[in-house]
Amino acid sequence: MRDDAIPLLYLAAGALFIVGLRGITHPRTARRGLLAAALGMAAAVVGTLLQKDLVDYRWILVAVVVGSLIGGAMAKYMPMTAMPERIALSHAFGALAAGLVGTAEYYERTESLGVFIAAALMFEVLLGFITFTGSLMAFGKLKGILPGRPTVFSGQQVVNLLLFTAAAIAAVWLVVSPSTKALFPVLITLAALFGILLVVPIGGADMPTVISLLNSYAGLSGAAMGFVLDNKALIVAGSLDGTSGFMLSIIMSRAMNRSFRNVLFGAFGHVDSAAAKGAGAAEERPVRSASLDEAAMLLEAARDVIVVPGYGLAVSQAQHRIREVGEILERSGARVRYAIHPVAGRMPGHMNVLLAEADVPYDRILDMDEINSDFAQADVALVVGANDVTNPAARTQADSPIYGMPVLDVAAARTVMVVKRGMNAGFAGVDNELYYLEKTLMLFGDAKDVATGLVRELEEASRSQRL
Ligand code: NDP
Repeated sequence: MRDDAIPLLYLAAGALFIVGLRGITHPRTARRGLLAAALGMAAAVVGTLLQKDLVDYRWILVAVVVGSLIGGAMAKYMPMTAMPERIALSHAFGALAAGLVGTAEYYERTESLGVFIAAALMFEVLLGFITFTGSLMAFGKLKGILPGRPTVFSGQQVVNLLLFTAAAIAAVWLVVSPSTKALFPVLITLAALFGILLVVPIGGADMPTVISLLNSYAGLSGAAMGFVLDNKALIVAGSLDGTSGFMLSIIMSRAMNRSFRNVLFGAFGHVDSAAAKGAGAAEERPVRSASLDEAAMLLEAARDVIVVPGYGLAVSQAQHRIREVGEILERSGARVRYAIHPVAGRMPGHMNVLLAEADVPYDRILDMDEINSDFAQADVALVVGANDVTNPAARTQADSPIYGMPVLDVAAARTVMVVKRGMNAGFAGVDNELYYLEKTLMLFGDAKDVATGLVRELEEASRSQRL
């Protein structure tokens, strides 16, 4: 009975993971997709707990309770703005688990390891420990514990290549001769060190890509673990995770104009150190600021408005107020759309989630490629807490850390309004030429406060028009 139930549960898990992945391709079906994936994971866990080799559930129960408490607290208390750090931490733990299972299996089965299983095991351990330390580094950088900028030194690529080659040689050696036990800790150390050095030169605008790449590594390590443990659910889940993470990395690096080779070797984000140093210094140059009523007047007269949300909108939770601004403008006959840059905010899809939460209709939310050419016809581009994703330097300034990243063509609009608290730089730490343009008006203040003020002004104006 047990033996019949396990393959069925694993089959259900695999199918539900695929349904889940399909679901999250569109905001409308994303919730259902995530529910399906969670059910799939529950089926996989139940299937695993039914394995007849399990003799004692006590420690498993302790792990389930502790893990659920930590996971539940993380989901409840970590803000949306800290999601990339949270994801990096989850990858670190997942990869550590794979690495440790591989280690335990190696020491238990050293004498009986066949070539295929030994190869899968070494692959699992190698990728597991690379991902563990790499993800911890990504977490530290995003959290601000470590410097977020790319750290580069001369000969870095050569050192990384040598380190990876040494780790790969140790892994191959252990496949051919598993009983060389002294080499196993060396493999772990080299992999862990490589994971650190892999992420050291990456920073700024490339962090989302590296997190997605580490996601892929963690998945591939899990798939290899599936072969070692002869667990089909792990093979399916790990392969899905590995390939989807890998494809997302490629899509993201294409969106940011990084080459495929750079993705594979994790060498992207390499920034000229002089450019990086100069980039942080905000210039003391005059900008034009506007009051709320001036801004409201301009918006009222506009027939075509494109809202560009960014990280600042997420921080101040201004999405509901901004949706209200849009609704008032639409009521007075304007066309209002929202332009989403692939890496606006701090994780892929960040802005889509916030706007969906605020009930902005899906057909008003457009990806960069769909809307970029329309800025030229827009009366107003209303930039709310976005910075790097609107920076023209990405097109024009070859020494900029964000050079090559496609950006929203905000400067093409007739008038640009930028809502932000001051002249601080964005995530990449660079000044934004957009703010100094003749056509740009700065609306200084917290995004939610400014949006609330705009709603008030626009409502007052439409009331007085009706009287
Ligand atoms: P940025 O980080 O470039 O800029 C955000 C701007 O918001 C800042 O200039 C800040 O200026 C302003 N701001 C902060 N708080 C508030 C507030 N309460 N009210 C109003 N404004 C506020 O954001 P973007 O979305 O334009 O770009 C995202 C960046 O993050 C890119 O560089 C991207 O590569 C990177 N990144 C993206 C990830 C992703 O997957 N999406 C993951 C990791 C990094 P001020 O302080 O003056 O108010």
